[in-house]
Amino acid sequence: MKEACGVFGVYAPGAPVAQLTFDGLYALQHRGQESAGMAVSDTEAITVVKDMGLVTTVFDERTVSCLPGDLAIGHTRYSTTGSSTWRNAQPVFRPTGTAGFALAHNGNLTNTEALAEAAGMLPGFVASDSDLVAELLAQRQKPGVSLEAALAEVLPMLEGAFSFVLLDATGVVGVRDPNGFRPLCLGRLGPEEDPSGWVLASETPALDVIGASFVREVGPGEMVAIDADGVRSEQVFPAERVDPRLCIFEFVYFARPDSRLYGREVHGTRRRMGELLATQAPVEADMVMGVPDSGLPAAEGYALRSGIPYGQGLVKNRYIGRTFITPGQEARAAGVRRKLNPLRENITGKRLVVVDDSIVRGTTTRSMVRMLREAGAVEVHLRVSSPPFGWPCFYGIDTPTRSELLASSRTVDQIREYLGVDSIEYLTLENLLMATGVADAGFCSACLTGHYPAAVPAEAGIELAPLPAGGLAGADALAVAGHRSIANA
Ligand code: SF4
Repeated sequence: MKEACGVFGVYAPGAPVAQLTFDGLYALQHRGQESAGMAVSDTEAITVVKDMGLVTTVFDERTVSCLPGDLAIGHTRYSTTGSSTWRNAQPVFRPTGTAGFALAHNGNLTNTEALAEAAGMLPGFVASDSDLVAELLAQRQKPGVSLEAALAEVLPMLEGAFSFVLLDATGVVGVRDPNGFRPLCLGRLGPEEDPSGWVLASETPALDVIGASFVREVGPGEMVAIDADGVRSEQVFPAERVDPRLCIFEFVYFARPDSRLYGREVHGTRRRMGELLATQAPVEADMVMGVPDSGLPAAEGYALRSGIPYGQGLVKNRYIGRTFITPGQEARAAGVRRKLNPLRENITGKRLVVVDDSIVRGTTTRSMVRMLREAGAVEVHLRVSSPPFGWPCFYGIDTPTRSELLASSRTVDQIREYLGVDSIEYLTLENLLMATGVADAGFCSACLTGHYPAAVPAEAGIELAPLPAGGLAGADALAVAGHRSIANA
């Protein structure tokens, strides 16, 4: 029941909302490639279309043109192995109230057992955590009870990560959990003085693509309701639960480079990660190259700061999704060969600095290093633009169990040996936070430090530990002590 997804919503009477939703989802395709769907309302009836596959597989021109309406929501989904089924495609629909409601979820709830009990559902009959929330809402949305009122009752029961976009017959609602783990922003169609519509989206490129202007990020714990009366905002969580913890990996890996988070463009922060990495971990080499795609800006930054020429060493098949978000170990290993191919003329006889954004299991990196050596690289120095990934994520990103994570039980030297590189260095958490330019804005870095800011599922057997004195920077010292530069001199 863990997902990394994209959500979108639009309220724009008179506009082709299904087309706008299609375009928005297409811009959010990187957040989920297993299924896509949308729910459209003409203010009387809601139509839901969803299926397995990419946005362009699920929707064609004819389908989109057959979905007239004034408001719509959409979803792109990624799930863990075994739960990539039609039943779990979103939006989830419930036929309550006048026309029912539909829900799209990015995140992962961590108290599903308690919620299933509250909903009177047997855990084995719960399709997903999103399904569970829909059930809890449906039980409360009796005649005369608005979707907003039902949400105000259900939301405080939820723990974990959720950026929801919902729709009933006449309105769209967006909600972000009190830690704001997953992004969600509000945009406007038309001029400020006379808006023609409003948009909610996981990332700002989904606003750009439909010509909407960025208004602001939906705040942690905030509910934004949009209907014929305009936009209303409400804080639905008690102040003590509101603690901004945007996932730091949105900056490192997940978000598109042209996204803006906390007011910063992601590409620039990735480039700064590379610059700081070059200062922190210099090495003599002939060429700096990045691992496509999300390692490229950091490689640019490393080259810029170090003065070592930047070059392309790998070509990525652009029609293949990122292997980190392809379910199944077997599919993942085969995916590397399908995805990357070396540029031999650029590589042969060279000492390479290879910059990647993160190492999770290490399988992709190991195959890639072998590929570079076979193509004639004489030295491979790996530089990683994030700290060692040693803990699983419970907040909406599908990561392996702790034992499958390369950095959970190995020293950096053991990691170097396993990957077959001449040297390896990870960016420190302190430098990673500095690269964002908003180090104090509030981040989750639990997968790097083991300090989880919100409840994790009881069955994970992980005890919550408060951050040590010094906050995240202090946590960095704890997490990566002894994980610093190891060179195979
Ligand atoms: S644990 Fe890691 S991947 Fe998960 S939300 Fe926190 S920073 Fe992001």
